[in-house]
Amino acid sequence: MDNAVRSRRRLLGPSLASSAVTAMAALGIDLRPTQARAWTLRIGNVKPVPSVCPYCAVGCDTLIYAKDGAILDIEGDPNSPINQGTLCPKGAAIYQLHVNPNRLTQVLYRRPGGTAWETLGLEEAMDMVADRVKKTRDETFEETFQGTNAEGKPEEKVLMATTAIFSLGGATMDNEWNHIQQKLLRGLGVVAIENQARI
Ligand code: SF4
Repeated sequence: MDNAVRSRRRLLGPSLASSAVTAMAALGIDLRPTQARAWTLRIGNVKPVPSVCPYCAVGCDTLIYAKDGAILDIEGDPNSPINQGTLCPKGAAIYQLHVNPNRLTQVLYRRPGGTAWETLGLEEAMDMVADRVKKTRDETFEETFQGTNAEGKPEEKVLMATTAIFSLGGATMDNEWNHIQQKLLRGLGVVAIENQARI
């Protein structure tokens, strides 16, 4: 069996199973107890860890079932006042965000003018980002600008900002992270601070 056929079968598997359940129901056969039993065998005895869907600003609560360091399943949290156990189609696929052979687990970097990706250590990549932020800030920081006074005459005014750095936050950054992020960026003089949830 080639990879394309395998992929199609993986993709169609759940929907075919769902269609089969619907067809059996039409025949008067209730498969719900069997489904519940299969679910119990797989994750019933595993204590879930609460988490939050990483995709959008709704912030649906999830329960992550993991055993021996491996994620078995991720479901919507029935006790959540936000999503009450439900997840949208994107959120329902969070499991595949984690358990996926195509998931990148290393930093990939393509140098300016380069044509190939190279692997960097996380520490090296973080240092590179910090160095570039500092260099950009040092080169573009403006302490003053030419404005006008109340009489409309030219007057030098305090600015203390850089417009050369832009920060884009993620929807699932929590209060504490946002607080620290704001302090860091405002301290650097960055004024272009946005969040993915508003875009
Ligand atoms: S489950 Fe859907 S609606 Fe809920 S946070 Fe995730 S992406 Fe947003």
